[in-house]
Amino acid sequence: MELSNITENEKSFDCDISKVASLAELEEIRLKYLGKKGLIQDIMAKFREVPVEQKREFGQKVNALKNKIETEIENKKQLLLTEQINKEIENTKMFDYSLPVDTKTGSLHPRTIIQKQVVDIFKNMGFVVEDGNEVETEYNNFESVNVPKNHPARDMQDTFWLSNGELLKTQTSAAQNRILRTYGPVCKVIFPGRVFRNEQLDARHENTFFQLEGVVVGKNITVANLIYFEKAMLKALFKKDIEVRLRPGFFPFTEPSYEMDAKCPFCGGKGCHTCGNSGWLELCPCGMIHPNVLKMAGIDPEEYNGFAFGLGFDRLVMIRTNLDDIRYLNSNNLKVMSQFKTKM
Ligand SMILES: [Zn+2]
Repeated sequence: MELSNITENEKSFDCDISKVASLAELEEIRLKYLGKKGLIQDIMAKFREVPVEQKREFGQKVNALKNKIETEIENKKQLLLTEQINKEIENTKMFDYSLPVDTKTGSLHPRTIIQKQVVDIFKNMGFVVEDGNEVETEYNNFESVNVPKNHPARDMQDTFWLSNGELLKTQTSAAQNRILRTYGPVCKVIFPGRVFRNEQLDARHENTFFQLEGVVVGKNITVANLIYFEKAMLKALFKKDIEVRLRPGFFPFTEPSYEMDAKCPFCGGKGCHTCGNSGWLELCPCGMIHPNVLKMAGIDPEEYNGFAFGLGFDRLVMIRTNLDDIRYLNSNNLKVMSQFKTKM
């Protein structure tokens, strides 16, 4: 065995590897040179035949060749694997540009559209937009808005209670205390959000719906201010002046409390399907913020007062689109949902 054998083996390997075109061929080459009966083993076995003065150089050259072969085989393997993957991707034709295009496009949910419109209107009137948690404490949802334990109003709202004593908020008012503490005593804030009621579902009742609540706190605020903001919002939303009326209402967090109705914008008060022939649409529970609610938010009710109002986005969508079943809004019925694009 001589040093020239090593050089010859290197030349033959260079030639072999340059011709490899598949992983199977590469494996053949690997076995030929690095296998148990491969050429490198062959050379190693004949190490003892090498003259003593050449043993050192011989050993180094064999090792260098072995390393070179191992590295080049591994590099070639990676290259072949990448080519194979690329070919597979090409064959699956993930994007076939020759197929006819389905031109149906998605759209925002009607509730999202109306929420954005209403929020933009209030923002233009200088309101800050806030958010609230969906999981709330009993204190924030009830006590802080003047609904103490055993208050009959708690029975009006069937609540989803959680095992840790917290609850899914039944009203956007659950954020009121925190917001008044953050922004009060002089503020204009709206806070849209999703609320939950443990209710039987029917055409008019859902267990999950979307509301917006607004509060305005300052000095010498009156019901006239409340009516002004609501009328301005309705005018911007329906693009015309809308008459409103107040009826007495009952909410623990406001005193006095009102139900605000809007003259039906579709029939102008004559009576139609949308307004159930009454000429009026129930729109917005509202009232002057109860002194207890201000007190619990650290605001002195002797010095400051304000109003609060609620709006239901689901109801607004139903009014705007003549939808007669609220359950469609939480359904995934594409046949129904895709019609809203043109109606909103
Ligand atoms: Zn009407």
